[in-house]
Amino acid sequence: MTSKALAEQAAIKDAQDPLAPLRDEFYFPELGTAELAYFSGHSLGLQPKNIGAAVNAELKEWARYGVEGHFHADKPWYSYHEELTPAMAEIVGGKNSEVVCMNSLTTNLHLLFVSFYRPNAQRYKIISEARMFPSDRYLLETQARFHGFDPEDAIIEIGPREGEWLIDEEDILEAIATHGDQLALVFFGGVNYITGQRFDMARLTQAAHAVGAIAGFDLAHGAGNIPLELNAWDVDFAAWCSYKYLNSGPGNVGGVFVHERHGQSFDLPRFGGWWGHDKVSRFQMKSGFKPMEGAEGWQLSNAPILGMAAMKASLDVFHRVGMTALRAKSETLTAFLEQVIDTLAEEHPNAGLRLISSRDTARRGAQLSIEVSAYDRQLFESLIAAGVIADFREPNIIRIAPVPLYNNCADIVTFYRVMSTLLSGD
Ligand SMILES: *Cc1c(COP(=O)(O)O)cnc(C)c1O
Repeated sequence: MTSKALAEQAAIKDAQDPLAPLRDEFYFPELGTAELAYFSGHSLGLQPKNIGAAVNAELKEWARYGVEGHFHADKPWYSYHEELTPAMAEIVGGKNSEVVCMNSLTTNLHLLFVSFYRPNAQRYKIISEARMFPSDRYLLETQARFHGFDPEDAIIEIGPREGEWLIDEEDILEAIATHGDQLALVFFGGVNYITGQRFDMARLTQAAHAVGAIAGFDLAHGAGNIPLELNAWDVDFAAWCSYKYLNSGPGNVGGVFVHERHGQSFDLPRFGGWWGHDKVSRFQMKSGFKPMEGAEGWQLSNAPILGMAAMKASLDVFHRVGMTALRAKSETLTAFLEQVIDTLAEEHPNAGLRLISSRDTARRGAQLSIEVSAYDRQLFESLIAAGVIADFREPNIIRIAPVPLYNNCADIVTFYRVMSTLLSGD
């Protein structure tokens, strides 16, 4: 396929895209290059233009009311987190009572582990994926040690088979069955950060429950990327960040899901703080922690309003567009990117270029990862220098995420042109 033919195809797809106008609602980084294509929404989503005004509005409320803003601001800070819940719950397929925005991702996972990883001598193992995101790996190691177990023994990592990149779900199910009565927890990323592999969370949850274990997911790469049905899938708990596909700003507040069947389990061990305490008696400041019902009962601190204002503005965009429309466009973009990757591989047989993400739409989200085995980091540096903002993992993996809110097929053609030039060595 020629560059011209690809560009023509892209133009047709982009012209038919009902979400095309959304692109203008985001700021694109200016790195001084003519052809800039941003594909790093899996690491840091672009800034929605409505965020500035939303944060400024809260700064004004603070200037105007001081401490009284907790009750008198247009959206009182006292209950501000509730403003974010419906849109966030929609994104993850949870009920409002099952979802709350608070803290950040790794912190939230530790807090949820306090309640949902309660190993004993018989049942202490955790099944998770090999090549986990480092923070999750540290989470598992330190949790196992905290409870007096050796991580080498307690953590069962399921990796891909020899020569493969993707994990066969049958292998996960088999491990769950094998470790059955020793298994405390099945903990996976909903979408793997390196390969973009999407796991069947309903299936893994069901298998975990069948042997009496808990099922939890890190949705850092799932939230805002793929449609989620956490309540219907019966997932016990999940947590995610909001700065990747959810575009709420660097390091901003995360989200958690706790299934409603645990929402009234007030005797579950948990770490308490005043914002998780019964809101009617919160300001009586008495001793005797009484958790709120639902996910809110895991909160610790009063909400960081400025960050949450940014997050609310970003979630408003998701609420307006809806995950169904986003996913439909995402599938179009990813299919086109797959075609471009195959074309590049065909045109440059010596590059060792290969798609490592799944070719099955059901087993992937927005991100496609490629291995370019004849090249090293230099290829990636050249990509960036040419204005294609992607992401690199050693030794030679490039991760590209066309994001349906702000990317289009023309961006993918830019990727194609720049890669063609680089791989041709001119
Ligand atoms: C991005 C990411 C994190 C980051 O954790 P923070 O606590 O937000 O810094 C953790 N886990 C996974 C799987 C991620 O993709």
